[in-house]
Amino acid sequence: MDLGLRGKVAMVAAASRGLGYGIARELAREGALVSIGSRTEPDVYDAADSLTEESGSEILANVLDASDPDSVAQWIDHTVNAFGGVDMLVVNAGGPPAGNFDDFDDTAWQSAFELTLMSAVRMIRGVLPFMRQAGGGSILTITSCSVKEPIDFLLLSNVMRSGVTSLAKSLSLQLAPENIRINNLMPGRIDTDRVQSLDAMNATQQGLDPESVRAANELGIPMRRYGTIDEFGRLGAFLLSDASSYITGQTIGVDGGLIKTVW
Ligand code: NAD
Repeated sequence: MDLGLRGKVAMVAAASRGLGYGIARELAREGALVSIGSRTEPDVYDAADSLTEESGSEILANVLDASDPDSVAQWIDHTVNAFGGVDMLVVNAGGPPAGNFDDFDDTAWQSAFELTLMSAVRMIRGVLPFMRQAGGGSILTITSCSVKEPIDFLLLSNVMRSGVTSLAKSLSLQLAPENIRINNLMPGRIDTDRVQSLDAMNATQQGLDPESVRAANELGIPMRRYGTIDEFGRLGAFLLSDASSYITGQTIGVDGGLIKTVW
């Protein structure tokens, strides 16, 4: 399907690898101008080179710390100076540390709040003037299936991502009359470095090897496998494009059937 993205400007946070990279790659394949932001310097430039090489699209690489307000502001400035505006935004960041209630002091809670919730607030606030100027736009937040069913040992993530989901829904109501849509994607288990490192951590805790932890996880997924970043990226690009022009305020799982709630 031609998503009509040629020449449109997209900003994708935390996109040097994993879920962000999957969406950035799909947008680039569709001909969008993509500004990727990620924390680690060689990786973000390497990712931009790979995306340009594969798609021929113009990719802007930015070193971004999503939890730092100045860094977010610089990323937006850099993008607007290079591409002239912003039509699409993907809110994403690395996950907060794993652990249970007794593991976290106020500093840990505050850091998770800055990384996961305030990064979303600041990115959205920063791009809205440009979307309003353009007469519309589309925003996608990335959370987790944990907003439907909390995941053991990921307390900070469970709590902060619920906040992002509520932010997305609340804003969708406010922004719909301005032709700005906002939706939220809940990954289940998409095969990325983050998921592999969580499997390795669980394996260590249970005295198992990571392969058997993964096999047990896959058995709990109706499709019996982890998803790919391409499967995730295709839905992301669709929701960001005008092909989904009547969809806003939705939280959609990409999980192979993992979450079994009716709603
Ligand atoms: P990943 O580890 O594969 O990639 C993370 C990306 O985020 C990298 O590009 C990294 O450079 C970047 N990053 C990390 N911290 C950053 C920061 N402070 N500022 C800017 N960029 C930063 O992880 P992933 O699997 O792609 O996950 C992305 C997000 O989705 C994470 O928050 C993760 O917890 C969440 N999530 C992923 C899954 C999944 O199935 N992969 C499931 C649920 C939730």
